[in-house]
Amino acid sequence: MGITLKSEVRFLRGVGEQRMKKYQKLGISTVEDLLRHVPREYIDLRNPLPIGRTTLGERQAVRGILGNKGMEHRLRQGLTIQKLLGVDGEDTITLTFFNGKYTVAGLQEGQEYLFYGRVEGSLTRREMNAPAIYPGDTRGLAPVYPLTAGLTSRGIAKDTATALAALKEIPDPLPDWIRKENHLCTLDYALRIIHSPRSPEEVTIARSRLVFDELLTLSISFSQMKRGRLRERIQPMAPVELTPFYAALSFPLTGAQKRAIGEAVEDLCSDAPMNRLVQGDVGSGKTMVAAACCWFAWKNGRQSALMAPTEILAEQHCKSLTPLLEGLGMRLGLLTGSCTAKEKRERKAALKKGEIDLIIGTHALITGDTVFRDLGLVVTDEQHRFGVAQRMTLSGKSQGTNVLVMSATPIPRTLGLIIYGDLELSVIDELPPGRQKIATYYIGGDKRQRAFGYIKKHLDQGYQGYIVCPLVEEDETGEGVPGLKAAAAYFEELKRGPFAGYRLGLLHGKMKGKEKEAAMAAFAAGETQLLISTTVIEVGVDVPNAVIILIENADRFGLSQLHQLRGRVGRGTAPSCCILLSDAKGDAARERLRYMTATGDGFKVAEYDLRTRGPGDFFGMRQHGLPQLQIADLAADGQVLYRAQQVSERLLEEDPGLEAMPELAEKVAKMTGLVAGGM
Ligand code: ADP
Ligand code: MG
Repeated sequence: MGITLKSEVRFLRGVGEQRMKKYQKLGISTVEDLLRHVPREYIDLRNPLPIGRTTLGERQAVRGILGNKGMEHRLRQGLTIQKLLGVDGEDTITLTFFNGKYTVAGLQEGQEYLFYGRVEGSLTRREMNAPAIYPGDTRGLAPVYPLTAGLTSRGIAKDTATALAALKEIPDPLPDWIRKENHLCTLDYALRIIHSPRSPEEVTIARSRLVFDELLTLSISFSQMKRGRLRERIQPMAPVELTPFYAALSFPLTGAQKRAIGEAVEDLCSDAPMNRLVQGDVGSGKTMVAAACCWFAWKNGRQSALMAPTEILAEQHCKSLTPLLEGLGMRLGLLTGSCTAKEKRERKAALKKGEIDLIIGTHALITGDTVFRDLGLVVTDEQHRFGVAQRMTLSGKSQGTNVLVMSATPIPRTLGLIIYGDLELSVIDELPPGRQKIATYYIGGDKRQRAFGYIKKHLDQGYQGYIVCPLVEEDETGEGVPGLKAAAAYFEELKRGPFAGYRLGLLHGKMKGKEKEAAMAAFAAGETQLLISTTVIEVGVDVPNAVIILIENADRFGLSQLHQLRGRVGRGTAPSCCILLSDAKGDAARERLRYMTATGDGFKVAEYDLRTRGPGDFFGMRQHGLPQLQIADLAADGQVLYRAQQVSERLLEEDPGLEAMPELAEKVAKMTGLVAGGM
């Protein structure tokens, strides 16, 4: 039976059931999956060196004949060591293997090999520990693959070669015009070259093709979702004058807020469901946009739901919106995980009967069996915390309902194209008047006491502040991180020491819902002056009297996260400041923190974050609930994404169901499944 891209890997010679199970751990089940499992880097074997020409301390490839294998010695239970010798007529190199029985057994004395690893020893005596070994005539770049237990890069390379040898020319699912316009090589070339390139230039050519494929699939998947939604038809809302709402506010809205409200209201009055993102830096006043829309829906006799990512935030929204909206005649309800069973039952019943006009809550709202009498609008606040999948669940629940999402995290353009690719966008690019730049300082631990003194000075003037630590317990990550300040212990230390006599509060994610609420309420009411907290305050917490924040181990956070934390102060008219405390020694970490002190613009921070950390971190795909891309790197491949989007639009314009391209359609369907079911 012939091998095709769709064949399961177990049909490849030398793979079988056992090995297939290992491959499955890497998400590989078909030959195509195997071929698209691309190397994460390459070892340069183009110019292996004679032993005598190697440089101490460098990772290099040397050529040598394997001498006598020698004996395996047992150092202790479970650890053996075996020393071999490589020779090349002039010099020798000692090769040490730990538990290397099987590796060594596969080698033949007297044969020529390439040994790759860090060259150690002295000028006269070269050594290499656990080198990678290749047949002596290997040249080019040797692939290093992402691995799982029981698989080696050598093994994967061998299976890949078996597959490629068994395959005839691999058909190209992309039409010629796409390849030509985007200067892409064929799929056949890309898949053959990426696993055994002869030069870095070849890798670049092959990789561009595979990156394009991946981003095209992703783009089409999002474009289809967007198109699907645009086809839906719903009952439009009727225009209503917003004047009474504006009149009830204690401050005039900014131009940007009004513009966003105007855009959203226009969506509400159309017969296509609203699907809009309101993006605005921390403190730009997004909540009022949400409030206006909920009020508008209520005026139309429809219910609204406002979703927050944390209980603290839901609670806070409820507190701040109740006086305004109930004053206007609306009925509000709160639904979070810490409501009692009875409260939940009652509020859900009220929602069903239409006795609550705006429900504010956490996911309890979406995951539960909540039924609305007439849900007209769903608002999700601080969208970046939810992720795409949750947003989908929500819009699934509210099928045919208007969706407004609000994000404080400025998403860099490339990431935004993907994450919010199916949304309309309103940007609030103006802060309420009177806001001042938050002075940001970066100091070392030796200045901690001085910083404490500075905080006390603010507290003495009647202001409040925060101290943020990264973790609750020293070992939350499973590995003790020396020097990390743990919130609970730190709180005790501060209360007894530097801040004795001040009213301190503690807030961290491991507290019960009610305890968190109480701690937050005490701080909001000014009963506690200084809140010692983990990052649970990161999103949305709004206490305008808090003007100073100190962040311990600041290097442990992503810059966007630091920007969010910094946004907890500077919410009133008093000058505010943020102190980043870190003893990080690395240049990169210090550079990043210095960048924070220099810029207050969330977009710039986010771009810089993406550039310097890559998307895999806090700010990355997984945080957003996106499927992990295998090949593409959004920080580096933004241009490709842009082109893929253009192509995707053109393809769908001509052939919305991708009927002429069943292979691509299948990949897109798989990607859509990953996106929607990702969490
Ligand atoms: P974010 O965009 O971060 O969610 P909020 O909606 O929490 O911002 O608003 C931050 C603070 O600014 C709140 O205290 C809010 O009452 C206040 N605020 C919002 N809009 C205005 C405005 N136009 N003028 C003055 N203060 C405003
Ligand atoms: Mg907010």
